[in-house]
Amino acid sequence: MTLSSTTQTPAPKNDQAARDNGDIVILLYHRVCDLTFDPQLLAVSPARFSDQLDALKSQRLPMSLTSCCESLIAGNVPSSRFVITFDDGYADNLECAAPLLEAACVPATIFVTTEFTKQQREYWWDELERIILQTSDLPDTLSIEISGEQHTWEVRDSQSISTDSQKVAPYWNVLEDSPPCTRQALYCNLFTIMRKLKPSIRHDLVNQLREWASEADVIRKTHRPMTREQLQQLAKSDLLDIGAHTVSHQALSSLDRVEQHREIAQSKAFLEEVAGRQISQFSYPFGTRHDYGTETVEIVRDEGFHGACANFPGVVSNRSDVFQLPRILVRDWDGDTLLHRISEVTRVAT
Ligand SMILES: [Zn+2]
Repeated sequence: MTLSSTTQTPAPKNDQAARDNGDIVILLYHRVCDLTFDPQLLAVSPARFSDQLDALKSQRLPMSLTSCCESLIAGNVPSSRFVITFDDGYADNLECAAPLLEAACVPATIFVTTEFTKQQREYWWDELERIILQTSDLPDTLSIEISGEQHTWEVRDSQSISTDSQKVAPYWNVLEDSPPCTRQALYCNLFTIMRKLKPSIRHDLVNQLREWASEADVIRKTHRPMTREQLQQLAKSDLLDIGAHTVSHQALSSLDRVEQHREIAQSKAFLEEVAGRQISQFSYPFGTRHDYGTETVEIVRDEGFHGACANFPGVVSNRSDVFQLPRILVRDWDGDTLLHRISEVTRVAT
C-alpha cells in the first residue's frame, strides 16, 4: 500500500533532476534488536530504529516496495519517498520491528531465506560466529577438507577466556581493516569460503566445525529465523509484505542456471504456500553486482517477480532497473546519521 500524502509534506528538493526523474531511497535492514555481539553489524537497536523512522518521515514520505516498483514501471517515480526492506527473515523483524513500523504507519517488505524457516536453524553466518567467536575454548589447530581442498589454520588464541581475543570480541566487526586475532581471521576466511558453498557441503562443514569445537547444536533465542506460523501472521498484515531471498542464501553467481532457478523458484513457491498469496518481490543474497548475473535477473523476471532488490547504494529514479534496485545499507545509527548517509548517496546519484 501507499500511504496518503495528505498528512505530511515532503521536504522541498533543490535538485531539478531529482524532481524530473523521481527520488526514492530504499533502505536495507536486517535486524531490529539489542545484541551484545554483532560482528556483521546487522542489528539496529529498537530505540535507534524508532529514531530513524522519525528522521525519515521528517524529510520523506513512506512508500511500499510494491508501489515503488509500480511507479517505476509506469515511468512515474515520485520524489522524496523512502521504502523500508529487511533481508533474511529474522524473527525480530516481526517481534521488534513490526510494532514500531505499525505505530509509525510505515510499510515494509521482509525478504525471507526459506531453508532456515523450514529447518528452524540459525542462519549459517550466525552458526559460524557462535562456533568460532563465542566458544570459550577451541583446539589449537583446525585441519579440514572443503570441496576436495585441504585447509589448515592455527588458532593461537584458542584458549580465549584469558586472551586478547575475548577482550576484543565484543567490539570487533568485519569492517575493521584486519582481524585482531587468529579467531577473527579464521571466521573471516571461513565466511568467504562458505558464501559460495552449496548448501549440503556448507551444512556438512558447519557440522564438522561444531564437532571440532565441541559446541552444542542449539539455536539461540536471539538468532531465530521466523517460523512458519510467524510468516502466516506476517502475511495477514496490510502494512508488511513478504519477499523471497532464495532457499539457502548462497551467492547466486556461484551457481549454474539450473541451481539458480531452483533457489529462486522454490523459495517463491514455499512462501506462496505458507502465506497463501502471491510473492512478487525478490532480493539477491549479498546483493552486490558480483553476487548475481544477467542470467539471474532473467530467471527472476521469468519466475513472475515484479521487482528485485540489490545491495549497492543509489536512488531509485525513472532510469532505474526494476530488477536491480539500489538500496542503502543501514547500520545502528541515530536518525541524523542516517539522514546524512542518505544525503551522501543522493548527492552522488543526482
Ligand atoms: Zn541476506
